[in-house]
Amino acid sequence: MFKAVYLTRDGEFKAQVAELDDALLPPQGVTLRVDYSTLNYKDALALTDSGPVVRQFPMVAGVDAVGTVTESDSLDFAPGEKVILNGWGCGETTWGALAQRARVPAEGLVRLPSGLSPHDAMALGTAGYTAMLCVQALKRHGLTPTGGPVLVTGATGGVGSVAVMLLARLGFEVVAVTGKADAAVYLRTLGAAEVIDRTGLSGAGKPLQKERWAGVVDSVGSHVLANACAQVRRDGAVAACGLAGGMDFPATVAPFILRGVTLYGIDSVYAPRAQRQEAWNLLAGLIDPALLASTSTEIGLADTFGAAADIIAGRHRGRFIVDVNR
Ligand code: NAP
Repeated sequence: MFKAVYLTRDGEFKAQVAELDDALLPPQGVTLRVDYSTLNYKDALALTDSGPVVRQFPMVAGVDAVGTVTESDSLDFAPGEKVILNGWGCGETTWGALAQRARVPAEGLVRLPSGLSPHDAMALGTAGYTAMLCVQALKRHGLTPTGGPVLVTGATGGVGSVAVMLLARLGFEVVAVTGKADAAVYLRTLGAAEVIDRTGLSGAGKPLQKERWAGVVDSVGSHVLANACAQVRRDGAVAACGLAGGMDFPATVAPFILRGVTLYGIDSVYAPRAQRQEAWNLLAGLIDPALLASTSTEIGLADTFGAAADIIAGRHRGRFIVDVNR
């Protein structure tokens, strides 16, 4: 038997911590003894029934985990190995990992990089790994620290906090956008050179605005993304990965056709394994564990429901690590 965050919809939606029999795990995949999971925005949507994340019920929630392989139907992973799970439909179309045990597709796993603790891996989670994918996209585009400031939106969130840390560590001048009036000290501690209020970006703006940013990491979408694009310098780039402010994109093509701005879409869920492993290896080398600790709060499975409500309400800061054995 194992404990899991179990979502059912028998008439009405119910989210609870349940004791489940191992025989109920999906028939195929790599079986994990989970050490830690985490709460991402997508998990918060699933736990609060706020968005169409869960495609079938009953569902064990959780897109992320770190743990030890106990059985494997894949030649790529052997029992005893420490692995990280991110996405690949877990918690959406197949049972996820807010649980003490999980059986998951091998494609969603990477090896835990040496030098990264299981705890820190989940302090990063999909949010941190996605921040790394965004930073890699900007670097591949040719951005360098001397090229100008980089804007990070949703800066106190999971993706945003890690993006600020990574860009600052790489030597970029980071300008953090936040809706939280009291977040300046937090964001400067992570490495932001400047903190600006989200209000100026959250309404409808002109198609082309003053050129300010060499690059942008956006996890918010909607008007914030549209205004950020309108402020990118000639030949700059935007890595867009999220929709915390809305799924719409009320923009014009002006920045793209008149300033040569490039918009990169970032999908962490089905990124190929080589790309995932590379991102995790880079993360392990770049992240300062002490700084990372300041962005995360540890909770147990039973605390995930309240934490999910905080995420959806935008009340939290940083990341929730879930000790599934607590
Ligand atoms: P998070 O921890 O909840 O952070 C989101 C942040 O966005 C909040 O902390 C807040 O930051 C800001 N925000 C919240 N509500 C907002 C609103 N109504 N308008 C404008 N800004 C708002 O979530 P996360 O884990 O960082 O994820 C962020 C987004 O990225 C989510 O949409 C998530 O689904 C997406 N995501 C996508 C991928 C992918 O593969 N593409 C992977 C991971 C995450 P401030 O208060 O500081 O402004």
